[in-house]
Amino acid sequence: MAEEPQLPAIPAIGEILDRKKRFVEKKHTVIKCGNCKEDFSREFKPGDYVFKKVEDEECEKCHRTKLLTIIEIFAEWIDPKKK
Ligand SMILES: [Zn+2]
Repeated sequence: MAEEPQLPAIPAIGEILDRKKRFVEKKHTVIKCGNCKEDFSREFKPGDYVFKKVEDEECEKCHRTKLLTIIEIFAEWIDPKKK
């Protein structure tokens, strides 16, 4: 009874490396408005962090300022070749 040699999963690691080379990380910031209670996301800006009060931007929905709080930051991998 001949057993097939078990090779380590090198191709899978190669795929991850290819993915990192090919894809670009895009970060988003989710902001909640203390006035209308709506939330919306925009592109991440340096200095953003969760629970930060955003005073210099206005709500996308009700256009009030000074009532916005960052509630979430998330990243997605996008393929720059796909438009
Ligand atoms: Zn609002």
